[in-house]
Amino acid sequence: MRALQCEGDGRVTIADLPDPKPRDGEALIRIEASGLCGSERDSLRVGSSWPEGLVGNGGHEACGIVVEPGESRFQPGDRVGLSAIVGCNACVRCAAGQELFCRSGGPQGSSKSGGWHAELVTVDARALRELPAHVDALTGVLVSGDTLGVPARGLRRVPTSVGDRVLVIGLGPVGLAHAAVRTFAGCDVFGVEPSAYRRKLAASLGIDTVSSIDDVTDFRARLVIECSGQPSCIEQALDLADGGGIVLQSGECHTEVRIKPSDTFIRREITYTGSWYYTSEDYPAMLDLAAHGPRLDALCTHDVTADDAQAAIDDFLAGASGKVIVRWS
Ligand SMILES: [Zn+2]
Ligand SMILES: [Zn+2]
Repeated sequence: MRALQCEGDGRVTIADLPDPKPRDGEALIRIEASGLCGSERDSLRVGSSWPEGLVGNGGHEACGIVVEPGESRFQPGDRVGLSAIVGCNACVRCAAGQELFCRSGGPQGSSKSGGWHAELVTVDARALRELPAHVDALTGVLVSGDTLGVPARGLRRVPTSVGDRVLVIGLGPVGLAHAAVRTFAGCDVFGVEPSAYRRKLAASLGIDTVSSIDDVTDFRARLVIECSGQPSCIEQALDLADGGGIVLQSGECHTEVRIKPSDTFIRREITYTGSWYYTSEDYPAMLDLAAHGPRLDALCTHDVTADDAQAAIDDFLAGASGKVIVRWS
């Protein structure tokens, strides 16, 4: 099979590798399309090792056709989306569709053969997600992966009402998807994004933006969705939430952030929370959003074959892309 392989410094090649073989509890999937996630920047620049030799292949958003379904309810030939995580499927939290909080060691990666930028993958059979017949391969990647999963879980965790003001800080693909989902939910959405390329993309989705958070002057939001992960932006997000409002942390941040508890939580009663990926309990609402919600394919700026992945990855690393989709079959 062919698979994307990172050579370091953002260079990729397509390698010929042995086909993966499913073991007990695993399914074999022929990938149709995979999506590039913002979290793959480091693996593209530095590389990381996987089993089966998929060096630097961090792909974790994909859909494809079932070859061998393993112990799942799917049949060979079904198109499925793939969840990047699974739980034990036996504890009370997994039974409630909350694999993120699995009591048997927390959520586990579902990939068994390495990254998903490849023609064939083996995955834990519990990772397979149904896709409606009308969903094509490109949309299938967006529907069953981070692009819809993250904003859909955010919407479940922090619902909004029609007319609520929502500020989104950072308009990469996930930030844009948050903005699109909240706009569809009837909110008055405003965005902050330094990249002119991404502000133009946001404008095409009907979202007003400014380039710097310092330019947000009189917009006080019921909900601020922080997608940049920058500590200074998180501090400002807490200031820009209206009294009694909420800040939803969506961008990863592993460093400390200065918080003024009395000003923020006591005087202004701000709620600060976050959400990560999605779980089974979110998927019915995700399918509903896919059928009736915003046009997610508008977020996709690059839809390329594996042979043309390098040019799209160059744009991705330069910040000149929305969602990048790579076709494998
Ligand atoms: Zn991701
Ligand atoms: Zn569990």
